[in-house]
Amino acid sequence: MDNYLDLLNEPQRKAVEATEGPVMVIAGAGSGKTRVLTYRIAHLLNKGVDAFNILSLTFTNKAAKEMKERISSVVGHSEAKNLWMGTFHSVFARILRTEAPLLGYPSDFTIYDQQDAVSVMSKIITEMNLDKDIYKPKQVLGRISQYKNNLITVRAYMNNQTLIEADAEAMKPRMGDIYQAYVERCFKSGAMDFDDLLLRTNEILTRFPDVLSKYQERFKYIMVDEYQDTNHSQYLIVKALASRYENLCVVGDDAQSIYAFRGANIRNILSFQKDYPDAKLYPLEQNYRSSDTIVQAANNIISYNQDQLEKNVWTANDKGDKIAVYRALSDADEARYIASQIWERQISEHLQPKDFAILYRTNAQSRALEEALRKKGISYRVFGGTSFYQRKEIKDMVAYMRLLINQNDEEAFLRVVNYPARGIGQTTISKLLIAADQQKLTLFDLVDNITLLAPTIGINKGTALKLNDFILLIKRFQVMLKTHDVYEVTMEMAKATNFLNALKEDSTPEGISRLENVQELMNSIQGYVEEQQQLEDGDSSLSGFLENIALATDADNEDEDDNKVNLMTVHLAKGLEFPIVFIAGLEENLFPSMMAVNTRAELEEERRLFYVALTRAEKNAYFTYSVSRFRWGKIIDCEPSRFLEEVDDQFLSWKNLHIPTQRNNSGLSSDLFGDTPTSPSQSRSYPSEPRAKSVARQHPNANRPDPIKPKQNFKPIDQAKSASTSSANH
Ligand code: ATP
Ligand code: MG
Repeated sequence: MDNYLDLLNEPQRKAVEATEGPVMVIAGAGSGKTRVLTYRIAHLLNKGVDAFNILSLTFTNKAAKEMKERISSVVGHSEAKNLWMGTFHSVFARILRTEAPLLGYPSDFTIYDQQDAVSVMSKIITEMNLDKDIYKPKQVLGRISQYKNNLITVRAYMNNQTLIEADAEAMKPRMGDIYQAYVERCFKSGAMDFDDLLLRTNEILTRFPDVLSKYQERFKYIMVDEYQDTNHSQYLIVKALASRYENLCVVGDDAQSIYAFRGANIRNILSFQKDYPDAKLYPLEQNYRSSDTIVQAANNIISYNQDQLEKNVWTANDKGDKIAVYRALSDADEARYIASQIWERQISEHLQPKDFAILYRTNAQSRALEEALRKKGISYRVFGGTSFYQRKEIKDMVAYMRLLINQNDEEAFLRVVNYPARGIGQTTISKLLIAADQQKLTLFDLVDNITLLAPTIGINKGTALKLNDFILLIKRFQVMLKTHDVYEVTMEMAKATNFLNALKEDSTPEGISRLENVQELMNSIQGYVEEQQQLEDGDSSLSGFLENIALATDADNEDEDDNKVNLMTVHLAKGLEFPIVFIAGLEENLFPSMMAVNTRAELEEERRLFYVALTRAEKNAYFTYSVSRFRWGKIIDCEPSRFLEEVDDQFLSWKNLHIPTQRNNSGLSSDLFGDTPTSPSQSRSYPSEPRAKSVARQHPNANRPDPIKPKQNFKPIDQAKSASTSSANH
């Protein structure tokens, strides 16, 4: 296709054509940033750049896949499938498969997911006899994650008095020892957690100049989407790789930075201009996604934040309907309202389930929504939550696979050594763990010599035999893997380990579904192997497959039939768009979250989250909130979110105003569950609850002249710098 450049507006086209040298696009939601990246890659391919020289980093693997498809359709050749695209984690995990041995890791290292990491951490904290109420495993891991993403290694930590003191003050004087034990434990298991994938990549690129040089040559063109959410570790990787050719294009929106709690930082946007003072900047201002009402309301919302880069987003799209606001009596009522809106609009406007998204702040909110959708017979899918690969039967089967390629993987070993039951009890396992630690052996190596070592460890002959059988079983399939296809090996192993039989014995519906899940896993192995075989540099090995599933993000939830209502947290919705979007649970202590109202920086991040949520909508948006909600096992009263108050009334249409005056004790009205829009005059004479409260609450940005700003050119404002400190102190 020759005229693809015509599908872009002027600044978009310029950003696409500026393929050489550093380029940054910081622009509002829906202005075509992702589109620019997609067409830029198509343009590069069209100019004859080899797909192998292009690296594109996306927020989810699914986004990468969709981009690839789009690129193929634009340039009309199959070259696109050889592009290196994906999340930072998946791309660099792939590179580490080759390079990790430089740091003493096996090339078939295991990737520990959050569940594995928590399990390792719990053991460490128990072994160190520490109080789990003070040293909460997840919290401790979060802290370690911060160190790693700021490239603070154990050694650097030990030399950093400020950090040591901060941890001591936070009642955690043993953080350093825990950090060290955790790193050693993972290393001994030949395992990396998610943060290691970035940390170790950085380490290799810094310590081995020839390796750096190899990848600099390989990735002559680098692109990063959602740049505002990169952390320091990711920033450094990109900087190192791009430093030879400097053909780097980053796109993002500071107003959508929603991962400060994970160390993402507006600093990276500002550093870009410092690193590349002659970088070209292309402001994109026209929003193509949303109705004028939505664009203006979103601008209105974000104007309450002090920390932001000035930009002007406008649209030529129709004005569209006002944003509907629904006040529910309970979470069930809220869900019922949403489900009936979806139901009615599907029928009256010929919409499809996939045209709707319900966004919420926390996963727990999905339960009530799911129930209401089920009752109405509306099909839906929930992103995040317990993903397929987190299910017990799948983790068990995967643990067997992990042991085949990395027998030192301690978490995998512990998971399956007695599953299906082989008569190896918890006492035996405790003895093994202590012995392995004392003798500086991995569990596998220890058990490999169990017949010799059993008496010294205090394990009886019978148990030693059982352990030995387990090792022989694993070894048998390790050998088989050398000559057979991955699918055959896993299938054979599932039978020989009694894994399938154990599942078959359970004929309850749950049991049957577990068996089906394992079957599905097998199918996906087959699918993976076939897919990889078609690629020039494909990797159809078992490690390749395992890496893929370890790094499937919550948003990568694959579902064959995707014509379903989409339920997800706002975080997962980033970058996506839907004709109709419901934002549920707009209540104080929920959205904004209770955890995030203590500082201005935290509150501003919540507001950016709200901005992200609203800007997903194309045609229509709904805000819903409830006056009571079932949380933490009881019913609690809720206040409407302060964010509702901030949106100018001209953009809103209150659906069920049933409060004739500001004080109405009955709280009920005939159209409570009805959807009849309130007439504008009504909405003025009967101020809704949040508006009634607005007098009491201080406008967070009271000094700002006008929430809907006049057109201004893109320029960083000084205040943006202060945002960069927001992530340092959590
Ligand atoms: P976000 O900030 O939410 O990630 P974005 O800036 O990446 O948004 P895109 O997703 O690239 O925006 O674009 C938003 C929508 O507008 C998409 O449906 C895209 O196809 C469409 N769009 C962008 N630019 C144009 C254009 N020049 N002509 C027609 N449609 C466009
Ligand atoms: Mg985008």
